[in-house]
Amino acid sequence: MLIINDLSIHYKSKQGDNPVICHLSFQLQEGESLAILGPSGCGKSTLINALAGSLAAESGTMEFAARDQGYPLSPKQHKIGLIPQNCGLLPWKTVRENCLLPLKIRKEYHKNKHTQELNRLSKALNIQDILNKYPNELSGGQLQRSAIARAFLLEPDLLLMDEPFSALDEITRAEARELFLRVWKYQKPTTILVTHSIEEALYLGNILSVMDAQGGNIKYQKNNPYFGQLYPDHADYLTAKQILRQQLVTKEEGMDTFE
Ligand code: ADP
Ligand code: MG
Repeated sequence: MLIINDLSIHYKSKQGDNPVICHLSFQLQEGESLAILGPSGCGKSTLINALAGSLAAESGTMEFAARDQGYPLSPKQHKIGLIPQNCGLLPWKTVRENCLLPLKIRKEYHKNKHTQELNRLSKALNIQDILNKYPNELSGGQLQRSAIARAFLLEPDLLLMDEPFSALDEITRAEARELFLRVWKYQKPTTILVTHSIEEALYLGNILSVMDAQGGNIKYQKNNPYFGQLYPDHADYLTAKQILRQQLVTKEEGMDTFE
């Protein structure tokens, strides 16, 4: 279970403190997939980076228990698969080396198993031909697919994805989303997916939340009956989309909800 309690994150600069996440609290059960929607600049990437351990919190706690590993949340103790918004591949390593690096750092690399697994993922993500290339030789979509392969190969306990499909063309995006669902059903990592697509959130999050434009908090959280359904043939689905859209643009509390 992931337990975020009263988390606040500020950026400090010469102009002063810029509070981005303010007293954020939420919980996520093990093996759930939370999709977070929110307007640009509301702090989604900040939250993901803090969960991944690359940003320090001003105050509050982040705890995570998975497969009997203890608190608090830390990249050393927990297997965290991160797909950052900029993909985060090391420029001096090839795609293959980038994909294998987290396993090697954790001393969990097994040549036979992971060569096979990387081949399988590369085929599914159509990156077989670029495994020996360097990040600066790749397109935005190829970088994203490589970052997805790296995260899945790790078989993480906690999977953090920051707009992981945004640079993909429509067909590749549809395939990558399906692959995510297949891998998620098989590996069952506790997942947080940040996306700006309402349809993607409804497809890939079994729980949906919306972050406030200001104040860095989650103002809406709901179970999602449309999880894993590509084109639900249901009038209520359109209503759900409409409600999420409203949530994204309004500052009011106590809006409509669906289930
Ligand atoms: P989102 O991912 O929701 O678009 P971010 O988490 O990237 O939002 O940014 C939230 C706010 O924090 C924005 O106002 C942004 O300008 C600011 N911000 C992001 N990164 C930094 C940084 N490294 N230093 C200072 N301010 C930052
Ligand atoms: Mg962002």
